[in-house]
Amino acid sequence: TNEADTDFVLPQNRKWAEAIRDKWMNIGENGGIDAYPVISGEERKHQENKHDVYDKSQYHEKKKVGSFARATLEDMQLAVQTAKEDPDGWRELSQQQRQKVLMDVAEEFRKARGELIGIAAAEVGKVFSETDVEVSEAIDFLNFYPYSVEKLSSLEGISVTPKGVGVVISPWNFPIAIPVGGVAASLAAGNTVILKPAEDAMLCAYMLCQCFWRAGVSKNTLQYLPARGSEISKYVIPDENVDYVIFTGGEESAYKIIESRPDIALSAETGGKDATIVTAMADRDQALKNVVVSAFHNSGQKCSATSLLVLEKELYDDPTYKQAIKEAVESLETGSVWDFKNRIGALSNLPSGNLKKSLDYLDDTEEWLVQPKYADEQNPYMLKPAVRWGTKKGDFCHMHELFGPVLSVMCAENLKDAVNIVNSTGYGLTSGIETLDEREITYWKENIIAGNLYINRGTTGAIVLRQPFGGMRKSAIGSGKKAGGFNYVSQFMNIECNTRRS
Ligand code: GLU
Repeated sequence: TNEADTDFVLPQNRKWAEAIRDKWMNIGENGGIDAYPVISGEERKHQENKHDVYDKSQYHEKKKVGSFARATLEDMQLAVQTAKEDPDGWRELSQQQRQKVLMDVAEEFRKARGELIGIAAAEVGKVFSETDVEVSEAIDFLNFYPYSVEKLSSLEGISVTPKGVGVVISPWNFPIAIPVGGVAASLAAGNTVILKPAEDAMLCAYMLCQCFWRAGVSKNTLQYLPARGSEISKYVIPDENVDYVIFTGGEESAYKIIESRPDIALSAETGGKDATIVTAMADRDQALKNVVVSAFHNSGQKCSATSLLVLEKELYDDPTYKQAIKEAVESLETGSVWDFKNRIGALSNLPSGNLKKSLDYLDDTEEWLVQPKYADEQNPYMLKPAVRWGTKKGDFCHMHELFGPVLSVMCAENLKDAVNIVNSTGYGLTSGIETLDEREITYWKENIIAGNLYINRGTTGAIVLRQPFGGMRKSAIGSGKKAGGFNYVSQFMNIECNTRRS
């Protein structure tokens, strides 16, 4: 059973949310959260190399959320050594014992839901409802992965052992669910694990580790390593005691991991250039609603976000539909996460790379249907949703992942042309179609190249077990098993097949 999300319409839940807001929007005044590396069973309270973290919604007021201290070279080496030694014997526990501990961890996450919502709002700029679903997903991972280990290991003739030492390199856009998923799968399979969180989500990761430690996973079994990505590549991944890496982030970094350790298992969830095709046979209002949510919730900072809207010509040429898209996007309230009317919060980091380029530049045939603007001129994190119109095949925004609140609208002659446009990005993570015509759905399903296919619904928000999440081609590098699917844990175990024919 999947964990239920919070219904924020209920008055008691709104009150609960108000209390979280009152605490967390002023957390710095009450001391804030100070995170230190937790290595080899203890907190390493370095006073040098500390970094302050500021609230993204209150950036111009420089409201402090807390700080983190970066791990030293010695911390990194000790972390791998400790994980290898496994002094508390996690690898020796039975599958049932580990499952029991992870059930207790899930319970800690239930209790900590409000705290995790608060820290993600402050540190990452996520609106409450977006983190709420992450906590549910985290609990699902904690329940599901031990169950899938049990199922796999109970197959006749199969014996399984842990791979050994795992390193989880997690992103900032899902600062709770993704690190918990990697850690839960690692622990369920009997490994010790080192968590290296993204720079912009160090405090979230520190708080989620607390849930594991409180429930009885030791600080030797799960270590918290707030280090730079470049240092991890240099000092941790090349260490021969590391047996596998779970990575979420850009494909270039994933290729580098393979280059430096071709001998180990890599499970990488990399980029996406996800599209929703809307044909002339669609329920047009429903399509609009699904596209707006998929493109802009969490400011489009999801690998699964719809970033291309491919309209069949009849719709593309309809000025009423064009106007409806513009109005729907402009109606999205953007601003501080502490003001509950806002559906779109702050960006987690300032526009750079492809996103920055997409804001400053249009290709020949493109125009802005909704111009990029800031909701608050004083806060560069408050970027409102924007829509480019008239993107053509091969244009910058057709081919590049932007990872921000910018949607590009393209015209397709027919469904075949639309599928061709989508498949030519080289990615293959999520894909959506809006149509009421069964024949179109069948054609699309048979021809689209993507890991997660969504029909007449949004392209984000995969649910553990029901919609295992992961892509193809440039979107999944390494062993490429889907998160939340039955065989995900198999990447972190040695599986022997001893079946003999009688
Ligand atoms: N699993 C998330 C979803 O289905 C996306 C994760 C990501 O952006 O990396 O929306």
